[in-house]
Amino acid sequence: MSATESVNVLGLDPAALQALVAQWGGKPFRARQLSQWVHQRGVDRFDDMSDLAKEFRAQLDAHCIVQAPPLNLEKRSADGTRKWLFDMGLGNAIETVFIPEDDRGTLCISSQAGCTVACPFCSTGYQGFSRNLTTAEIVGQLWYANRALRDDPQAARLNGPAEDAQRAVSNVVMMGMGEPLLNYDQVLGALRLMVDDHAYGLSRRRVTVSTSGVVPMIDRLARDCPVALAVSLHAPNDTLRDRLVPLNRKYPLAELLDACNRYLEVAPRDFITFEYIMLDGVNDADEQARELIEVARRVRCKFNLIPFNPFPQSGLKRSPTARIRLFAQQLTDAGLIVTVRKTRGDDIDAACGQLAGEVKDRTRINERLPDRARVVIRKKEHA
Ligand code: SAH
Ligand code: SF4
Repeated sequence: MSATESVNVLGLDPAALQALVAQWGGKPFRARQLSQWVHQRGVDRFDDMSDLAKEFRAQLDAHCIVQAPPLNLEKRSADGTRKWLFDMGLGNAIETVFIPEDDRGTLCISSQAGCTVACPFCSTGYQGFSRNLTTAEIVGQLWYANRALRDDPQAARLNGPAEDAQRAVSNVVMMGMGEPLLNYDQVLGALRLMVDDHAYGLSRRRVTVSTSGVVPMIDRLARDCPVALAVSLHAPNDTLRDRLVPLNRKYPLAELLDACNRYLEVAPRDFITFEYIMLDGVNDADEQARELIEVARRVRCKFNLIPFNPFPQSGLKRSPTARIRLFAQQLTDAGLIVTVRKTRGDDIDAACGQLAGEVKDRTRINERLPDRARVVIRKKEHA
């Protein structure tokens, strides 16, 4: 087998890894040992996996690799946030962000290069869709971050001196670039590794899939690998949501809310997180908060209000802080649990597709189009 045909171990979910090892006559515990070396200790050279039998290591050397996507660029924010930009080939890049907090370290990872959903407030949506990431590329982001954070005193310290620095990442959120449930199979493989005790061993409550509302795939996720679910609501009715999250035309609110309720029957958390981006004069009025309260009565949920991160092509503005506060208050007064997302890593553009956007512009892979032409193209994609 040539190097180009090598199997990337990062892309094998627990069952696939066992099958590979079984092919060579290896017992399941061999697969578990290998998994621990790769995913928990971050080792990529089979020769360094000292308690694996010599012949097994030779087999691995001949047929396998452990390889994260190539790094393009890395940035560090003064507040400890770190961001990595990975090269996906053909001028595409995806991003991964680590956000340290007092009691946890959250890694935000990407599932696709670009996105087909094309929400008008999202710079990933503006880039169009390039391709799905493989399981190896999705898991590779976590694998790489864990290795990088081992040497980061800030990340290690924030997780407490007793905590092994390898565990700097305690939570994973699929809120980077792309719609995870439109790349279902590859994302599923990655989720299975994240929650596997012999790989990343994260609790299902600490792994969150964020979706714009791919109803049939919410049902499949409930069956295959229930983890915490965040739904990008952004609007309290179909008319507005059709505009803000174009996928709503296919899976309207009533269907989405029903899917949320079905999901809750098996979910590891007893609520769905509704994400709601705060757009000045678009979805932030008192009346819209009242409508939203009615929607919220239909599903056990918590709200995460996200101050919009502006970028020039969108033509949209962030709601003023006072408006966000009043909107949040209205929801809280109705008995809902609401958090307002803090903006982190602002100095390194660590929010939502911005850095990858810059790089694409520089590479000029997509010819710059006048704004109106872009809109026409985007409409066609969703026709
Ligand atoms: N496609 C999935 C997951 C990736 S987007 C989804 O839409 O849920 C993750 C979150 O980032 C979503 O809630 C999305 O609304 C938010 N987001 C996208 N663009 C943003 C921007 N410019 N400012 C703030 N949040 C943004
Ligand atoms: Fe895609 Fe999510 Fe961005 Fe919408 S918000 S375009 S679904 S990545």
